[in-house]
Amino acid sequence: MFDKILIANRGEIACRVIRTARRLGIRTVAVYSDADRGSLHVALADEAYRIGPAPAGESYLKAEAILEVAARSGAQAIHPGYGFLSENDSFAEACAAVGVVFIGPPPAAIRAMGSKSAAKRIMEGAQVPLVPGYHGEKQESDLLRREAEQIGFPVLIKASAGGGGKGMRAVLTLDDFDDALAAARREARASFGDDRVLLEKYLTKPRHVEIQVFADTHGNAVHLFERDCSIQRRHQKVLEEAPAPGMKPELRARMGEAAVAAARAIGYVGAGTVEFLLDEDGSFYFMEMNTRLQVEHPVTEMITGQDLVEWQLLVASGEPLPAGQEQLAICGHAIEARIYAEDPNREFLPSIGRLRHLRPPADSPHVRIDTGVRQEDEVSIYYDPMIAKLIVWDTDRNGALRRLRSALAEYQVVGVTTNTGFLASVAAHPAFVSGEFDTGFIERHRSDLFPSAMPAPGRTLALASLEILLRREEEAKGSAETSLDPYSPWHSVSGWRLNFDNHHTLYLLDGEEEIAITVHYRGDGYLLALPDGNLLVRGTLDNNGDILADLGGTRVKATVVRHGNTLTILEQGRVHTLTIHDPHACIGEDQGVDASLAAPMPGKVVAVLVNPGEKVEKGRPLMILEAMKMEHTITAPRDGLISSLNFTVGSLVSEGVELLAIVAEEGA
Ligand code: ADP
Repeated sequence: MFDKILIANRGEIACRVIRTARRLGIRTVAVYSDADRGSLHVALADEAYRIGPAPAGESYLKAEAILEVAARSGAQAIHPGYGFLSENDSFAEACAAVGVVFIGPPPAAIRAMGSKSAAKRIMEGAQVPLVPGYHGEKQESDLLRREAEQIGFPVLIKASAGGGGKGMRAVLTLDDFDDALAAARREARASFGDDRVLLEKYLTKPRHVEIQVFADTHGNAVHLFERDCSIQRRHQKVLEEAPAPGMKPELRARMGEAAVAAARAIGYVGAGTVEFLLDEDGSFYFMEMNTRLQVEHPVTEMITGQDLVEWQLLVASGEPLPAGQEQLAICGHAIEARIYAEDPNREFLPSIGRLRHLRPPADSPHVRIDTGVRQEDEVSIYYDPMIAKLIVWDTDRNGALRRLRSALAEYQVVGVTTNTGFLASVAAHPAFVSGEFDTGFIERHRSDLFPSAMPAPGRTLALASLEILLRREEEAKGSAETSLDPYSPWHSVSGWRLNFDNHHTLYLLDGEEEIAITVHYRGDGYLLALPDGNLLVRGTLDNNGDILADLGGTRVKATVVRHGNTLTILEQGRVHTLTIHDPHACIGEDQGVDASLAAPMPGKVVAVLVNPGEKVEKGRPLMILEAMKMEHTITAPRDGLISSLNFTVGSLVSEGVELLAIVAEEGA
């Protein structure tokens, strides 16, 4: 076994590999880009070395820089994680050339599976079933059209070099074929520099079922059962589980054998995944083989009790597989949910920014969190916006589903938009719960899964008001303690000031809507006049923003996170953000720049639409920022005069900086 390994990756997978290495007494070397100097994986490793600027092309993809660190640090082996250099045969070869072990399959096996078409030809030879289709070298449009007709519509055009769902087009009729082919070729050329395509029969209700395989250098090869990854958005996995719901032992055995045959056909060594489409009638077809550890490997670990990174390390150091097929068994059910900083209501666009508040559920034998970030870390434009993988386990699927729903409800993230609410709707959807779903699930149930933004319910408004009032009470107590006259009635926030009318109005903004809430101070709490009626509330607030509230006799636990004048109320998986519109309510916080005139995320200024000194009305577009290939228009939050323009077209800005300032018009 190795004494020291280098992890050529970042984020959760780097942390995941370090954890196993540490358990085995192996020292770890991390590499990092400028954007990751303060990252968790850097903090966890025994040593860490800078390899370049933030863009992956200048850091995590720079083979020479990584090999140089391996030499400098004396690492004997390199774990590539997934993504980046993990399926790069030249990198695997370069490692071998300098005498460093690449923790992955031989370069020839990576190459054999690198092209979907070539892989299919190999699999055909190994008698692994293929989706009916065309995967030949000839690429003339006429020939492809004839092949498509022969396969029968609908057909799927796929980029041979494809990955991540790019260069893929479903074609329903012959009439649409030429346009779809042109589009698939364009996308394939742009994404992979290779516009060759293959054709497949398009299955209308398939499941994505993949088999985890493992082989060693002693001729042993096993499978560790299946994972069902049918819950996908834009052909990308969102939820994965093991075992596949409804899988019969006989079918599992056949699919497992086919996967092992596939691995043997290319002289495979290490961890690999053979992906199949499973049709409604129980036929299954080889799709592709991923020659690395998959993102979703933890569900397999949870049901087999094996540590797949440990297996990889053993195999790479020349040891035999730690278990034979007969020793492997499935215990219970595991589900993984990928928690992303993204907005499901905006086509799952990444949402970047600082993780102002991050509180995952606690780790336990039932709940595992694989993450690479901590509170205050930045989700940047440079890398995959995954925050964590939440993996749950229980003795059966219903138990695992229950754990998934409660863990998602407990997962607190403020600062970026996340998909936790969306995942929770999937986890609760009857079609998912029944186990009767296929890859079309999200599209088919779109209207149930993407609930439109609802106005804040009375309960949320009550919790927000209570937080403001309890904070004020604390503030008043604080100033009373430091005052010369701690008993002065002016420090009281109870409202029992002399004979004044003891009420006050709070103003909150829910989106565009202003809500006025009148508070009557009572000896036993605050009586709130909410839009849907009066409610007597009281409670306690701690420094973490946790509120224990009594809302009209109902006990409620919630968390309220403040940032400037925004309040995010988290309660049982519901997240709602409100803005305090009452300047007196903002206490103890530096409000900093006018939030609406600050860059919402790091990006580039692509247009400046106003001049200094210009008079603007509320709502007027002022500046356009481009981030993550999307344009964001900064509009005037109120009427006024432009007092300063802090950036020009082409400037790169970081999140939160003031882009421009508006002052009230003289004499207004
Ligand atoms: P990529 O490598 O780009 O991720 P894959 O070949 O792995 O592409 O396919 C991704 C997903 O696309 C599959 O999980 C499945 O949902 C869908 N898909 C692929 N091939 C077919 C097919 N022939 N019929 C129906 N759906 C398919």
